[in-house]
Amino acid sequence: MITYELLHRDKNSDARRGVIHTPHGDIQTPIFMPVGTQATVKSMTPEEVEENGGQIVLGNTYHLYFRPGDELVKKAGGLHSFMNWHKPILTDCGGFQVFSLSELRKIHEEGVEFKSELDGSKHFFSPEKVMEIQENLGADIIMSFDECCPYPSSYEYTKDSMERTTRWAVRCKKSHKTNQALFGIIQGGFYKDLRDKSTQDLIDLDFPGYAIGGISVGEPKEEFLDILRYTTPKMPENKPRYLMGVGSPDYLIEAALAGIDMCDCVLPTRIARNGTAMTSHGKVVVRNATYEHDFTPLDDECDCYTCKNYTKAYIRHLIKCKEILGARLLSIHNIKFLTNLMERVRIEIENDSLVEFSQNFYKKYGYTNENRRK
Ligand SMILES: [Zn+2]
Repeated sequence: MITYELLHRDKNSDARRGVIHTPHGDIQTPIFMPVGTQATVKSMTPEEVEENGGQIVLGNTYHLYFRPGDELVKKAGGLHSFMNWHKPILTDCGGFQVFSLSELRKIHEEGVEFKSELDGSKHFFSPEKVMEIQENLGADIIMSFDECCPYPSSYEYTKDSMERTTRWAVRCKKSHKTNQALFGIIQGGFYKDLRDKSTQDLIDLDFPGYAIGGISVGEPKEEFLDILRYTTPKMPENKPRYLMGVGSPDYLIEAALAGIDMCDCVLPTRIARNGTAMTSHGKVVVRNATYEHDFTPLDDECDCYTCKNYTKAYIRHLIKCKEILGARLLSIHNIKFLTNLMERVRIEIENDSLVEFSQNFYKKYGYTNENRRK
């Protein structure tokens, strides 16, 4: 099982510095978690993920259920041994992917019927089935089956969906047999009374950790911040708090300021493959012609392997020629940029200075002031 230890509370915000103890080691929080959708953080070896600050990775239930199949992963000894990653792993519940297939799925009380995007075959995910898959995958932290409402959704739709998600959480808890830590997911869209109800109902079920789902789904930033800052302080203080699907530097800092411990996103490796780097001076689209003759590193403040050894001009050349090394070098840099950022966030919390740091960071990164914390 996993436990949360609070080390320090920021005196000037809701941010908190802590440690999550897991069977595969400790996680220093707040943290950014790289996503390994297909049991690999795309283009990086597990050693590289670790060297670049990765403390825990995510696996994806929906994708691994289809390929290679959760039974096969179980036969391999679980995800840790199958992918040769011996630190903590979290698997999501597959709900986000299944519900994104708007043309291909049908929702019932019992579960969700959907067609595979790969071959059109029919499948059914129920809370019990999703528990079985995640138990076969064998991650340290697993997630209860939820519906993430699209943005925008009506009050009635969101309410029905949130109440069903709570009933599904009860069923997940009932059918969960292993000692993996099962987290509940708070839903309720952008309606505060629904967020309250969902939070309270899930707290009553006594999960060992809680996630906020259903925000960062395409809404304006101020609505994201409003629900984030409203919901997070109501989550239990003695358990990990996880905000799902967030990976841009400003959202990660805002999540930490609100008291979130864990975030995940495919963003750093996805934009790497498109030729984009996150740097301390903002986004650098290295594939742009501006960088053709630029023989400086991606980020003069970064200590990663890529920045120590390669220039923008070279990486641009690799990306233009679709060379695999280009995506690899950018992925290494982007992962290290975010893990360095979160390391800095942890230090700032210890010094009660995260608010000040965030304001300076936003200025340097080129964010506007419109959503700056009051
Ligand atoms: Zn770098």
